[in-house]
Amino acid sequence: MVVLESLLEREGLNKMDKKHSNPCYRCGNQRIVSKTWKEGVGINQVDVTLTVCPNPECQKTVNKELNAVHKKTVMMAQKKEERLMIRRRKKSL
Ligand SMILES: [Zn+2]
Repeated sequence: MVVLESLLEREGLNKMDKKHSNPCYRCGNQRIVSKTWKEGVGINQVDVTLTVCPNPECQKTVNKELNAVHKKTVMMAQKKEERLMIRRRKKSL
């Protein structure tokens, strides 16, 4: 029983290691945890970890790129919504 427990523990730790192995996609440096918090309600809470590149200049570029991607995603979602609205309007005519 003790052996099993320690095995499970070791596996859990290994999984954690993998989870935290998060190299920067630009420079390949191991990203560092800047902030952790819990999100969600009740039992659906998840640990959210925000990691940043140890190189501040690189992180700035990453942030810019992420922002650009985010804006694109939001814009695409808006366009999709508009198309849906037009379709709905046509249907009701
Ligand atoms: Zn980097």
